[in-house]
Amino acid sequence: MPQYTPPLRDMQFVMHEVLHAVDELRLLPAHAELDVDTVNAVLEEGGKFAAEVLAPLNQSGDAEGCTLDPASHEVKAPKGFKEAYKTYVEGGWPALSCDPAYGGQGLPHLVNQAFYEMMNSANQAWTMYPGLSHGAYEALHAHGSDEQKALYLPKLTSGQWTGTMCLTEPHCGTDLGLLRSKAEPQADGSYRITGTKIFISAGEHDLAENIVHLVLARLPEAPQGSKGISLFVVPKFIPNADGSLGARNGLYCGGLEHKMGIHGNATAQIVLEGASGWLVGEPNKGLAAMFVMMNAARLGVGMQSLGLTEVAYQNAVAYAKQRIQMRALSGPKNPEQPADTIIVHPDVRKMLLTARAYAEGARAFAMWTTLQLDKELASDDEDERRDCADLVALMTPIVKAFFTDNAWIATSHCLQVFGGHGYIREWGMEQFVRDARINMIYEGTNTIQSLDLLGRKVLGDNGKKLKKFAKLVTEFIEDEGTNEAMQEFVNPLADLGDKVTKLTTELGMKAFQNADEVGAAAVDYLRICGHLVFAYFWARMAKVALEKQAGGDPFYTAKLATARFYFAKLLPETAGLIRSCRAGLQPLMALDEALF
Ligand SMILES: Cc1cc2nc3c(=O)[nH]c(=O)nc-3n(C[C@H](O)[C@H](O)[C@H](O)COP(=O)(O)OP(=O)(O)OC[C@H]3O[C@@H](n4cnc5c(N)ncnc54)[C@H](O)[C@@H]3O)c2cc1C
Repeated sequence: MPQYTPPLRDMQFVMHEVLHAVDELRLLPAHAELDVDTVNAVLEEGGKFAAEVLAPLNQSGDAEGCTLDPASHEVKAPKGFKEAYKTYVEGGWPALSCDPAYGGQGLPHLVNQAFYEMMNSANQAWTMYPGLSHGAYEALHAHGSDEQKALYLPKLTSGQWTGTMCLTEPHCGTDLGLLRSKAEPQADGSYRITGTKIFISAGEHDLAENIVHLVLARLPEAPQGSKGISLFVVPKFIPNADGSLGARNGLYCGGLEHKMGIHGNATAQIVLEGASGWLVGEPNKGLAAMFVMMNAARLGVGMQSLGLTEVAYQNAVAYAKQRIQMRALSGPKNPEQPADTIIVHPDVRKMLLTARAYAEGARAFAMWTTLQLDKELASDDEDERRDCADLVALMTPIVKAFFTDNAWIATSHCLQVFGGHGYIREWGMEQFVRDARINMIYEGTNTIQSLDLLGRKVLGDNGKKLKKFAKLVTEFIEDEGTNEAMQEFVNPLADLGDKVTKLTTELGMKAFQNADEVGAAAVDYLRICGHLVFAYFWARMAKVALEKQAGGDPFYTAKLATARFYFAKLLPETAGLIRSCRAGLQPLMALDEALF
């Protein structure tokens, strides 16, 4: 069975030594009392829950999957999932970063996000049940009426109820403007919702007593397309005013998908047959309201992939240190054994270091982004809130797509380290690869993330948001300009920053002439930007490691070696990507559709 050790040391390094996150958070009135010891203690306990409760259920949950009773339409999650959820609720974990006004503990999202990384490493399929609830909580918190908040938020905060997001329909996924589910107003102010939603994660299960579906549907006479979509809260059991469970609502699970990975999570078809729903936010503004949930979920998907990259890496390292096979080309390294351990072979090291650099780079990137999110939500300075909101908006598609693409590469590399044994179920590596694949698809495919980045977030506001990030990079480069030891990191960072600026201008001009140029360049462009952000954080981590390595702690030696690996072996990918971006639209469109 795969092993998992929570990477607490690296989390503490990023939070406390690189970002000085607690100092920054303490400037926010809501977190003025926060201290390092509390953060460390929460993460230590959270890590135990992940490693001791969730990880042992990962392989069994994958093998068993979820089961639907066709008569009752009830779904059972795999053995042990319900008990683990009970432990999670009793531990108060769902409330970690929720609003104290609704029973939450009010800790920063940063802490919750780090906790989610560990849960995702341990068991992504299980973690999706509470993960979706967080998104539903955020959407209701931002757009619900006072009455809706009072009714639903305490139950989602305690974990007594879970949430879902019901967007997708059989004929529409990416293009939600096509959706057909209907909402008819009723005399009592509620709506009758009718339609079919597919692929609904955690859509039906036995972990919690109630499921709060957030459903997109159309009002009568609503405008065509995405401007005519409204958001509704549609509970499985209609709550009474005191929060107790009332009547069973008119919706049910019509089927479960049989899928490539995340078998332990129920991917449900939800049939709405005149279900009672209540409008959340304003009519026809549902997509904007749902975006609160989708943005939270997109960062969450990034954390799923960071979690998988970390756990795959840990297991591949353990294997590479004990598997003996062949001699090093330069002569025996373990002469007392009949062959050398495979970790002596350069390419095995390359696969391991790739996964490690992706995991540690992503951890720094994600923690910084979540810190900006905390400041966006809790700062009392309006300018700071706006700047942080811009940075979070810019980084969200990169976190989602870059981390998930990297996890697909990294989990596959880590499987490869096991050779044929990686392909065999019992080692658990093939599950990580299968589970990682969906992260590139849901919450908006990675192509859609790249269009969001280049089309909306960069060109759509004339590079204003990008310039805010560029300013941070420039300041860092200027600060380190005379630091000899930092040149190996700062020079390639500065070089890539210049290239991204030039490329962005070029793409903007091309897009002006033909908007399809954006579609041709966007995926490559997002990957280049992902590397730019990684280079910035790897340089910042290298700076701390350089300063502290003299103390003799091997942690810093390893950090520095990984930073050097990243700059030498992974960052150069950007040269090819820039060339591909520049090649533009023509090679993609030259082939007549009939000739495909
Ligand atoms: C396991 C699983 C869990 C899911 N969970 C949920 C959930 O909880 N709630 C929910 O509502 N949905 C959920 N989904 C649905 C998921 O979000 C959609 O599958 C996804 O958004 C893509 O939609 P689609 O499958 O209809 O593909 P399509 O929209 O048909 O896209 C097909 C392909 O065309 C590409 N494409 C589409 N438009 C463009 C464009 N303009 N430019 C370039 N390329 C384009 C896409 O990138 C994709 O590669 C889940 C799906 C799965 C498989």
